[in-house]
Amino acid sequence: MRTTNGRPNGRGGHGDGRAGADALEIAGLTPLSSCDWPGKLVATVFLQGCPWRCTYCHNSAILDPRTPGVVPWQDVRTLLAKRHGLLDGLVFSGGEPTMQPGLVAAAQEVRAGGFGVGLHTGGAFPAALARVLPHVDWVGLDVKAPARLYDAITRRGGAVPAFESLRRVLDAGVDVQVRTTIDPTVLDAAAVTELAAELAGLGVRDHVWQEVRREGTTSAYRASLDALTTRT
Ligand code: SF4
Repeated sequence: MRTTNGRPNGRGGHGDGRAGADALEIAGLTPLSSCDWPGKLVATVFLQGCPWRCTYCHNSAILDPRTPGVVPWQDVRTLLAKRHGLLDGLVFSGGEPTMQPGLVAAAQEVRAGGFGVGLHTGGAFPAALARVLPHVDWVGLDVKAPARLYDAITRRGGAVPAFESLRRVLDAGVDVQVRTTIDPTVLDAAAVTELAAELAGLGVRDHVWQEVRREGTTSAYRASLDALTTRT
């Protein structure tokens, strides 16, 4: 399948990792961030496309993998070339970055340029994640819920690949922070306790809870949050 700009697109995360970095469909570029990789000053690229439709997603504009990118990879190259000594690294975020076959080449290029490589992922594509892990220094992995509640958040399933991805990251020994956004419309106190225990049992040492942000979410979701507040 090809995008409107004639470049191969990794929809479905089945790319073999041999596409060039210029094939990346980039929805946005943040030139400086101190929060996308804890303790590091980074630039962050947001890659187009995600297979999930999470209740609390505030990135709805970048979910459709058929939408072409708006930032050429060359702009990222140029930025990094100017920021030697100022930036620690580049974070690939999304969307779901492992959907795109150009990710491996891009990560290799960033590292070869002397920068660290960070990756935000929900773990939807364990095989694609495994291909890029040797070229990644840090992973921010979203684990959204205990497996039984995954679909209530993503509305596209995903528990099996997400926990498989967690296993692969832990087995690879890559520095990882597992993050869980607490969706109060799905996760109650028992589910939070259950997930914390499950992650600890799997060997996760760095797990952070995040509050849902209302900004950018759908009006229906904001109404469901309001309904919860009204009831309490
Ligand atoms: S995985 Fe992230 S980008 Fe994809 S729908 Fe969920 S919150 Fe949005």
